[in-house]
Amino acid sequence: MKADQGKSFRRDLLSWYDAHARDLPWRVSPQARAGGVVPDPYRVWLSEIMLQQTVVAAVKSYFNHFVTTWPTVHDLADADDAQVMAAWAGLGYYARARNLLACARQVAASGGVFPDTQEALQKLPGIGPYTSAALAAIAFDKAANVVDGNVERVMARLFAVTVPLPKSKAILVDHAASFIDDERPSARHGDYAQALMDLGATVCTPKSPKCGVCPVFKYCAAQKAGIAASLPMKEAKAPKPTRLGIAYVLRRADGATLLEKRAEKGLLGGMMGFPGSDWAETAPAPKPPATADWVAMPTPVKHTFTHFHLRLEVMTAVVSTDCTPDVGQWVPADQFNAKNLPTVMRKVFHASQTGSKT
Ligand code: SF4
Repeated sequence: MKADQGKSFRRDLLSWYDAHARDLPWRVSPQARAGGVVPDPYRVWLSEIMLQQTVVAAVKSYFNHFVTTWPTVHDLADADDAQVMAAWAGLGYYARARNLLACARQVAASGGVFPDTQEALQKLPGIGPYTSAALAAIAFDKAANVVDGNVERVMARLFAVTVPLPKSKAILVDHAASFIDDERPSARHGDYAQALMDLGATVCTPKSPKCGVCPVFKYCAAQKAGIAASLPMKEAKAPKPTRLGIAYVLRRADGATLLEKRAEKGLLGGMMGFPGSDWAETAPAPKPPATADWVAMPTPVKHTFTHFHLRLEVMTAVVSTDCTPDVGQWVPADQFNAKNLPTVMRKVFHASQTGSKT
């Protein structure tokens, strides 16, 4: 695309965004921004961390809960770790929550001000190239090239890139960079980044792009070639292995439940969960946390992580109040809340309620 076409592309996309921007709880609308409202970097940062690997619809309620409970980066920095991990439960990718706290504390220690350059932002915990670009553009209106999955798809179609992902990533980033106008400070960099994301999320959608209502229809090579829906191409993924494990739901006669804090590093790191065996591709060795009359639940729990499927057998038992388990801590009945557990552990809890295998 020629330079003058790039400018008219931006203009057309921004006009569309002015009328069709998604209303998101962390977003400053284009009208408010034009009126001088400046985005709060704390809210932009929080939303971008939550949106890593998680869809917008799932993030909204978590975001609202976080900013109500911890309205500023100082509030979050002062928060209790366990409370934050519990509030994050269900969002997945728990390393994000640990990095979130580490980053909040680092920013709070420097006066509560987020740096405004990609280079400085990337020195903070949990902020990589993508998030630093998104923050620089959206929070600070800098000319940054923000390329998420939505933008990759739009670029693949605009330029009819038939090289499959992930090999085509660098090509798509270069195409996206060709639209970045870093010469004009008033080029609405934050709005442009969000407009491109919104286009991918609402018009140039994965399965059935709505080319008939697309504001950048005339620039699109894939649409002209009739191959839009088939792009971006993707290399076939290797099938995910299945790992097996056993989870133990132990209750005390007074209603307390045994939970164990998982190791800080690794999957579900730092989160509370039910004790259990290792997760392996061969049948795991039983590892009950206490001697008890264990009963197998009829339905195993199935859960899919990024790199593998998990199938967990669920065992339950009730013990007397003088039981001292090998691991974990008793959580009294009035303090136990399955909502504070990561999703796979919530599934284990629900499976434990379904009755025993006969
Ligand atoms: Fe996507 Fe269709 Fe617009 Fe091209 S014309 S950018 S394929 S929605």
